[in-house]
Amino acid sequence: MKVRSLQFAWLCVGTLAAGVVFLWWWTGNNRAACHMNVRNVQQAMRSYQGMNNLAQGTPLDRSALTGPGKMLEKEPVCPTCGPYRWSPVVPGIGTLMIECEHTSHSLPPAQTYDW
Ligand SMILES: [Zn+2]
Repeated sequence: MKVRSLQFAWLCVGTLAAGVVFLWWWTGNNRAACHMNVRNVQQAMRSYQGMNNLAQGTPLDRSALTGPGKMLEKEPVCPTCGPYRWSPVVPGIGTLMIECEHTSHSLPPAQTYDW
C-alpha cells in the first residue's frame, strides 16, 4: 500500500515536470515565431520604403505590404496573441512596424536599434 502511494506521488511529480518542460518549450517557440514575424514585416516594410522612396512618417497602410503578390502573402499573426498592432506610418529607424501585445514578446531595443 505504501509503495503504491509512493509510486503515485512520483507519477504526479513526473507528469507535472513534463508539463512544465512542455510549457517552457511551447512558450519559447511561440516567442521565437513572434520575433520572426516582427523581423519579416520590418524587412518587408524597409524594402517597400526603399523601392517607393518613402520618407519616415509617410502614411503606410498594412494592405500595401500584405496580400497575394505583395511583400508578405498574408498578414502575420502572433501564435500566442493573434493580430499585431500596426504602425499607420513608415516608422523611423529602430522603431518597429508591428508590435505584439504580449509583454514577454517585445524585442529589446538593443536588438532593433538599426531595424
Ligand atoms: Zn507575440
